[in-house]
Amino acid sequence: RRALGSLGKSRAKFISAEETTGVTFDDFAGQEYIKRELQEIVRILKNDEEFQNKGIYCPKGVLLHGPPGTGKTLLAKAIAGEAGVPFFAANGTDFVEMFVGVAASRVKDLFASARSFAPSIIFIDEIDAIGSKRGGPDIGGGGAEREQGLLQILTEMDGFKVSTSQVLVIGATNRLDILDPALLRKGRFDKIVRVGLPSKDGRFAILKVHARNKYFRSEEEKDVLLQEIAELTEDFTGAELQNILNEAGILTARKDLDYIGQEELLEALKRQKGTFETGQEDSTDIPEELKLRLAYREAAVAVLACHLPDPYCPIIEVAMIVHRQCHFVSCARVIEEQMFGIDNMCWISSKATLDASRLAEFLILQTGMTAFGKAYYRNQSDLVPNLATKLEALRDEYMRFAVEKCASVLREYHSAVETITDILLEKGEIKAEEIWDIYKKAPQIPQPAVSPVDEYGALIYAGRWGIQGVSLPGRATFAPGNVGFATF
Ligand code: ADP
Repeated sequence: RRALGSLGKSRAKFISAEETTGVTFDDFAGQEYIKRELQEIVRILKNDEEFQNKGIYCPKGVLLHGPPGTGKTLLAKAIAGEAGVPFFAANGTDFVEMFVGVAASRVKDLFASARSFAPSIIFIDEIDAIGSKRGGPDIGGGGAEREQGLLQILTEMDGFKVSTSQVLVIGATNRLDILDPALLRKGRFDKIVRVGLPSKDGRFAILKVHARNKYFRSEEEKDVLLQEIAELTEDFTGAELQNILNEAGILTARKDLDYIGQEELLEALKRQKGTFETGQEDSTDIPEELKLRLAYREAAVAVLACHLPDPYCPIIEVAMIVHRQCHFVSCARVIEEQMFGIDNMCWISSKATLDASRLAEFLILQTGMTAFGKAYYRNQSDLVPNLATKLEALRDEYMRFAVEKCASVLREYHSAVETITDILLEKGEIKAEEIWDIYKKAPQIPQPAVSPVDEYGALIYAGRWGIQGVSLPGRATFAPGNVGFATF
């Protein structure tokens, strides 16, 4: 049992300057501008004279925000590694306890330790756990405690002069929107850096970093293979890319091969896509009824993908498996209705429908490309009168259009849907070339035109994407342990 006396001590992990984090900016690839920005901070922490003479001071706090796995922790460690200063790593959740006063004293303890080792870095991952907006709904309880912890962070950050004590606080979050504005004020986290998903070139660079200790037949082959993986991994994070290479390494060893090849990489990619989309390990025992529904759904998605080709979302292959997501939203719903009847539907398309609705709202509120408005709206219902009602009405129109368009394409290509479904049921997978072949050769049943609704013509765009529901283009939708997957 933990002694009560240690309750108020910070649980931060400490890495001394001598050990160093061992991480440098070379370990972070893609988004080079981020490194350039942070390089300046490193120079100040290192007491670079040129900077001191110019009177440039270190910001007190740097907030890194972006999706999980994009390298925020890595960057924080790299700053410490490059500057050669001690590193205190904490997590926002460490401070959240139900005991009165514990959060605040843990914060105090952490800052006191860091100050005694200054210049040093405090890294607080998931800072939103302690730094979310005050006075909001108290999800999970412990609100008052958390507030005390947050106040203590603010006090600590206000309390030191950067020029002398040089404790740099680095926070990381994927929920910038819920952070208490007080944290973002000048003199606190006054440098905010977005760490986003890598571009294609960024993905290639990240793959190169993680391929450093892996065997490939030649440098040329390595580049060609990694370029291919970079192409196919739209929306992947650095952590996911790293997993692909690790998995490919394991597969290579398992097959007793000397070098990682295309087959291993694609297999690893498949597995990675499977895990993060579905979290499902095995899907061998699918009831027949569900299998049929899934096969129809995959077939419908495949046909829609042929009909609305998207350069970002090449079809690779389609397999029959349980997955809980289908980006061709309306299509998942529509094919169920067409094949099984409106009163005989199940939940398999619910996630997809949710994604589609969100996407529609995004298009309406944030792209500035619709009749709704040229501005960017968040959910600022206090600023725009009747925002919710207007939004809902337009969203429903988008969804109606998407569903109708989908239904029309699926009726037009009904025989292709049936053929692909049969193949999926029989073989469990189908390759992209075969899908294209079936689609092109399928007899069409002409359908009346489906009319868009938006007088700005934006709906052509919105409708297209709405139908596809590609909220996450390039992501696969299939479980691992199965032969194939589709990317849409
Ligand atoms: P976050 O803190 O944003 O959740 P992490 O820093 O924990 O992400 O990332 C996990 C791992 O993924 C890193 O240790 C690193 O190996 C890899 N990684 C993530 N982003 C990158 C990147 N841009 N370059 C190289 N590796 C990366």
